[in-house]
Amino acid sequence: MRVGFIGWRGMVGSVLRQRMTAEKDFDGLACAFFSTSNAGGSAPDIGHGPGLLLDANDLDALADQEVLITCQGGDYTEAIFPALRQQGWRGVWIDAASTLRMEDDAVLVLDPVNGDAIRQALVDGKNTFIGANCTVSLMLMGLSGLIRTGQVEWISSMTYQAASGAGARGMRELVQQMRQIGVESAHLLNDPATAALTLDAQVSQTLRGDSLSTDQWGAALAGSALPWIDRLVDDGQTREEWKAMVEANKILGLSTPLPVDGLCVRIGAMRCHAQALTIKLRSHIAMDEVTTLINGAHEWTRVVPNAQADSVTHLTPAAVAGSLNVPVGRLRKMKLGPNFITAFTVGDQLLWGAAEPLRRMLGILREHKG
Ligand code: NAP
Repeated sequence: MRVGFIGWRGMVGSVLRQRMTAEKDFDGLACAFFSTSNAGGSAPDIGHGPGLLLDANDLDALADQEVLITCQGGDYTEAIFPALRQQGWRGVWIDAASTLRMEDDAVLVLDPVNGDAIRQALVDGKNTFIGANCTVSLMLMGLSGLIRTGQVEWISSMTYQAASGAGARGMRELVQQMRQIGVESAHLLNDPATAALTLDAQVSQTLRGDSLSTDQWGAALAGSALPWIDRLVDDGQTREEWKAMVEANKILGLSTPLPVDGLCVRIGAMRCHAQALTIKLRSHIAMDEVTTLINGAHEWTRVVPNAQADSVTHLTPAAVAGSLNVPVGRLRKMKLGPNFITAFTVGDQLLWGAAEPLRRMLGILREHKG
């Protein structure tokens, strides 16, 4: 199978290559690597010998591929996808960007949750498969066992999203900001007699001053939190918040829409998105049963006991980064009423939130083609 990769050096693309190498997915594929910035340069080494990068804007070179997997971003998809289809390319397009997600012809891919729908779509001849929004995918990975009962009336999700969710440049800037805070407060930190308020004043001065690089985030992210992700849409929602309900419902294929809404917040974590969930049930379900339902959904989710040591050890971005597990913890009934439960879940948004569904889509496609 001839497979072209675009966006392979960005965050999602890098993790995709890492996972494909680990799972030996490159075996048996004829791979071509494309670039928007370095055509003619060296292609990445996937154990198939040296190769050159092709031009990611060359429609003929792209149309030579049976499958295109792009992690390049929405602007690229917007420019290239319609042009390719228009010139008659009928290959399979697999994409991490949000551009095509709500198109009627596009199938959102998260196979532990909607694997049957994906396989049916291939049988039906569909050829546009898109990874869903990272927080949406991670929420469904954690909660699908419970949602499948039909007993969830609505979900409110308050997110804590890592810098890597916005790509490689945002990650660099977060660490640069951390360094700047460290450099400017080092003389105070080195003196054990420094009062905490003095240290705090210095850090605040750095966070609000001109020395901090803020090109990517527009403000301090290190030592702070940014309660806004993406652009404004309707009713005061950001686009990131809007995606939660529309994409979750598209993946679940529910006939009666499940309301999902909340606030999306960027925090200074490097990798892994966390979410605090309020879940309204239609009827009382005992917590033991909730646990059994969540644990039983698939092999990548498990309930973390609602205890301090377990929560700070297993339910944090630092603990989950680089892992395919999507733990769900802090599970309990709320004081709001017997049908309200709360939960906290963390997942690596570069894995299940981005690269993993794409590599698994390629695997499903290969199975389908036999
Ligand atoms: P990214 O890291 O910014 O990479 C995108 C492209 O930026 C790369 O392919 C590369 O293109 C270019 N680039 C410029 N400077 C770079 C640098 N210093 N290091 C690496 N690449 C650089 O974006 P991403 O986070 O992978 O996201 C790609 C798409 O996936 C977006 O549509 C995003 O919305 C979506 N997505 C991301 C996540 C996530 O957690 N990050 C999750 C789900 C979906 P050239 O090599 O052609 O120059």
